[in-house]
Amino acid sequence: MPDRTTVAGVAVDTRHFIGGERTASAGTFTDVSPIDGTVLGEISRGTPEDITAAVAAAKDAFPGWAATPRAERARLLRAIADGVDKRLEELAAVETADNGALLRSHRRGVMPRVAHNFRFFAERSLALDHEEFATRGHTHHVSWDPAGPSALITPWNAPLMMESWKVAPALAAGNTAVLKPSEWSPLTASLLADIAAEAGLPAGVLNVVQGPGSEIGDALTSHPDIRRISFTGSVPTGRHIAASAAAHLTPLSLELGGKSPLLVFADADLDLAVDLAVEQYDNAGQVCLAATRLLVDERVAAEFTRRLTARAAALRQGDPRDDTTDVGPVVHPRQLARIDGFVRRALAAGARALVGGGPGTGLYYPPTLLTDVAQDAEIVREEVFGPVLTLQTFTDEDEAVRLADDTRFGLAATVATGDPERAARVSARLVAGTVWVNCFYVRDLRAPFGGSRQSGIGREGGTWSFDFHCDVKNTVTVTKNTGTATRNTVTAPKGRPAHG
Ligand code: NAD
Repeated sequence: MPDRTTVAGVAVDTRHFIGGERTASAGTFTDVSPIDGTVLGEISRGTPEDITAAVAAAKDAFPGWAATPRAERARLLRAIADGVDKRLEELAAVETADNGALLRSHRRGVMPRVAHNFRFFAERSLALDHEEFATRGHTHHVSWDPAGPSALITPWNAPLMMESWKVAPALAAGNTAVLKPSEWSPLTASLLADIAAEAGLPAGVLNVVQGPGSEIGDALTSHPDIRRISFTGSVPTGRHIAASAAAHLTPLSLELGGKSPLLVFADADLDLAVDLAVEQYDNAGQVCLAATRLLVDERVAAEFTRRLTARAAALRQGDPRDDTTDVGPVVHPRQLARIDGFVRRALAAGARALVGGGPGTGLYYPPTLLTDVAQDAEIVREEVFGPVLTLQTFTDEDEAVRLADDTRFGLAATVATGDPERAARVSARLVAGTVWVNCFYVRDLRAPFGGSRQSGIGREGGTWSFDFHCDVKNTVTVTKNTGTATRNTVTAPKGRPAHG
């Protein structure tokens, strides 16, 4: 099997990256572009033995990396960010070929954010201070110590974005990592390994193993030398990983699915509300945060529906490399069949398609808007992860909140209202990791990110990422000072090692 493939003119290594070396497995899996079915490459199909080797490499590299001064770690992460910037066009083109998301989004939004993720966590690690509390003749010294090798497992809908969002904080914290990208979008993780090596990252600090999670996931998540698991993906896989991690009580962070609501109140700017609804078709609806349940005040529902229907029907679906395309293909035939199954069952159960409602050609599933759906219908309760929205109405604020919160998920919620008091009232009552008021998908890495209920466990972003990846330690030392307790004297003690 060749060690490389060429995608969008870019050479991509098809092997794993373990201990700073490229290694191949005997078997491969075929990576196919959702754009037109082109075979992109034969990728090394990892085995549990490859996972064992990668974890061993991460374990070997850990003491040296953990002892590396934070400033040096930050310098290397910035060098990775520079490498991402330098290869931005290549990364964007390869990612689009691999997962079918819009090229213009990758170029203008996603890849710059990838670089930003590395820079942000580099800076944040430097700002992460030690704390000291003086109490009755003792000092309590709080430190964020690197925990060990982290397992990082990512989905296909925003591959390099998710990978950088996990790799950057893990490495900034002083952990080493084994990254397992999705088998439906393996390519940019391999390019990231090249970029990290070119930046001078020591061997073994970042390892990449390719292959289906169903075949190699357990070897990684139940490995006794893995000290953290950060997973983004579906609820069933998250549940499986939690059980696997239980073997060694490995701490885990789960960023899972959603069925988020968009609440449109009668006092909302209706143009804005329609814009927010149309945005939910981005990335062909394959966005965990997507507000796929439209809940609209019955007094404005007719007008909202008229405007949204016109806008959704006018979206241009086609080749994601074309700048004028709004909606590209879904990622994989299995995903298409899954989406189609949800829609067919919804229609059979009495739903009415206002837009779309059935598959197009190839993997291009047209934007779909369904109404006449019952609150207990499958289409309202389960995550479709495709360009399918449902529309329901409510009569008052209480009913809006009740419908919004009547779900086992709790990832995000969006509220469109012209009344700031209502915005505050409703936001407080919504069960969601993120609530957006009159906006959508605005992210800041300083803020916590994660899901409530079955949308996940834990929060990442800002300090929360370091809390997760580190063993937070309190060292209590007796002092001569036996005076009155003082609290929150926060200082970085001189002479402490710069890591941790
Ligand atoms: P998935 O759960 O099928 O796969 C995600 C990753 O887990 C892949 O790398 C896969 O190979 C791996 N995996 C599969 N079985 C495994 C196992 N037994 N052990 C370890 N790893 C295993 O999810 P997907 O279809 O790739 O992604 C779509 C899902 O991800 C949706 O539910 C979406 O909502 C969710 N998602 C959530 C967020 C978030 O931040 N909350 C972001 C993006 C996507």
